[in-house]
Amino acid sequence: MSKDLKFETRAIHVGQERDAATGATIVPVYQTATFTQDAIGKNRGYEYSRNDNPTRHALEDALASLEGGRFCFAYASGMAAIAGVAGILKSGDHVVVADDLYGGTYRLFSKQLPNLGIQFTYVDATRPEEIDKAVTPDTQMIWIESPTNPLLRLVDISACAEIASRHGAHLVVDNTFATPYLQNPLALGAHISVHSTTKYIGGHSDVIGGAVVVDDDDLRDRLLLVRNATGGVPGPWDAWLTLRGLKTLAVRMRQHEINAAQVAEFLLTRNEISQVYYPGLPDHPGHEIAKQQMRGFGGMVAIAMEGGAAAAERLCEATKIFCLGESLGGAESLIGYPWSMSHGAFPPEEKRRKGITEATVRLSVGIEDADDLCDDLRQALDRSARAG
Ligand SMILES: *Cc1c(COP(=O)(O)O)cnc(C)c1O
Repeated sequence: MSKDLKFETRAIHVGQERDAATGATIVPVYQTATFTQDAIGKNRGYEYSRNDNPTRHALEDALASLEGGRFCFAYASGMAAIAGVAGILKSGDHVVVADDLYGGTYRLFSKQLPNLGIQFTYVDATRPEEIDKAVTPDTQMIWIESPTNPLLRLVDISACAEIASRHGAHLVVDNTFATPYLQNPLALGAHISVHSTTKYIGGHSDVIGGAVVVDDDDLRDRLLLVRNATGGVPGPWDAWLTLRGLKTLAVRMRQHEINAAQVAEFLLTRNEISQVYYPGLPDHPGHEIAKQQMRGFGGMVAIAMEGGAAAAERLCEATKIFCLGESLGGAESLIGYPWSMSHGAFPPEEKRRKGITEATVRLSVGIEDADDLCDDLRQALDRSARAG
């Protein structure tokens, strides 16, 4: 499939040619653990589904193309993908981590990997010079997210890539919030792009998955070894659902952004809200970096409630269309309370240092009608104001 094809076309066609055996237009769910061999040592490209499976392979080819790398590995979850990348580290290695980090990644990096002799230093990556200062001779990886969760800070990926390359380390970018539609870390110089496909890529809140994309042969070999050795692969059905979601990523992301921009504008008009965080707002601190390294501002919005914890909790429980729940990136809008939900794994002082308070509320703006979403937030704010 030609590299010149546009994103929308590649999402629907790369890796998804008609099925060679039957002509099926849509990639079938190859629900099989093993593949019958023609003779010992002679097979038709597949042996055993932990190593490779045609449904999963189609997803990997499509994602590699969209993310602009030659190799993609799919995993059973975003955390399995992250653990798969961390699995190429060895005892004595050091990692510089952006302290604005997904809670599950923080759990892995703070509770498990130090037991294996891997060391982590946390820095404010919105100031890349802090990364540079934290690098040691043992630093093998620099790990960032952008935009970050939940306050949507922007990290300059090219600047971090330059630092990583200068020190012979790999820059890993968790690109879950932006998706390949809005941002391609490898094109900005990063070495490894990681995704929780559970979020926007799957897009329908019905399947857990993860993926890693690289362009380097050595990284490919090391990641493949770890994934094969540890086995955190998605089943064929999950790969199929993720691939079905991926086909509509572009149209969904466009609508997420239109809706999020309208919701952010609406929230700015409400005096119960002391701060609106959305990278598309011109006074957002990362607005300029977002314009440089992204093709849009995405569908996540965060707010700080003037009335503190009580007001934030009341709002989370008063919406009718926004569902109170973990996760993000689905067609349906979600509201969440980072203090005790997505960021519950961080100690309180850590949260405060990151700017997350008991007044912070996070919105994953879905692709329902934007007026309905604003009306829902309006009624919820009105009702919770009366209750307070
Ligand atoms: C959800 C998420 C993960 C973890 O993915 P799972 O699919 O839940 O395991 C990692 N990074 C980010 C930024 C996420 O939002």
